[in-house]
Amino acid sequence: MSDDNKIRIEKATKIFNVYKREGSSQKKWERKSKQIKKSLLYAVKDVDLTVRRGEVILIIGPSGSGKSTLIRCINRLENLSSGSIWIDDECITDEKADIRKVREEVGMVFQSFNLFPHLDALHNISLAPVVVKGMLKEEAFEKAKSLLKRVGLSDKIDTYPDQLSGGQQQRVAIARALAMDPHIMLFDEPTSALDPEMIKEVLDVMLALANEGMTMLVVSHEMGFARAAAQRVIFMDEGEIVEQGTCEKIFDRCEEERTRKFLEHIL
Ligand code: ADP
Ligand code: MG
Repeated sequence: MSDDNKIRIEKATKIFNVYKREGSSQKKWERKSKQIKKSLLYAVKDVDLTVRRGEVILIIGPSGSGKSTLIRCINRLENLSSGSIWIDDECITDEKADIRKVREEVGMVFQSFNLFPHLDALHNISLAPVVVKGMLKEEAFEKAKSLLKRVGLSDKIDTYPDQLSGGQQQRVAIARALAMDPHIMLFDEPTSALDPEMIKEVLDVMLALANEGMTMLVVSHEMGFARAAAQRVIFMDEGEIVEQGTCEKIFDRCEEERTRKFLEHIL
């Protein structure tokens, strides 16, 4: 792969089996006798995408358009049905790929924080480096402290998640992902569960990360963040990339009707 490219996605397709009961009878005995019908749902359809080293990409699109599924395939939380994903020179969708290594390289932050409730901030952040990477505890604690400082939470070292605000929990979650020294960070609607006054503190941490040169794929509808940090915006619908380009191109003069309709709802 060219030196400039960090991720290459080729013809990525993810199909889910969905099961539906045929008919819609209200009567219980009738419902029971109905056939359960299996159908295929193309969550991601034939997606090609190349991400440059250090590039920040914002992915937008309606609910159910395949945004989460696409980025989850990049750290193998989901497996593609067909197609391939390359990180540097390694095909991570190959059966022989080392999933643990992929997860070390590709950090992920979710809408719902997913912190360990029984661990304080320091231990939430240092757990994986110790357990997965075999880092010495003292070293992992030092690293966790410096990461907490980086996300502006030096005073929350021994605080448990339920004593932190949503914005603070999300910043701990980002620090936890960074503790593995990833080269790529995936964010799946990182501010959607936050009260409005907490959104900025999380976006500021992400912006700093972007400015440091992290390769980032961010599913979000935060236009301010996009304009400040994203080199490219991708609009997805029905599992496909419909249109992509700079913030100006997508937000101010998009070409596709589907993009325009969607933006009308969120701008
Ligand atoms: P988005 O993040 O854009 O809202 P998703 O990637 O979550 O979209 O979902 C894309 C489509 O795939 C949706 O129709 C969703 O219902 C379906 N889907 C996602 N995950 C699963 C799953 N584990 N099983 C079945 N269908 C799923
Ligand atoms: Mg989603």
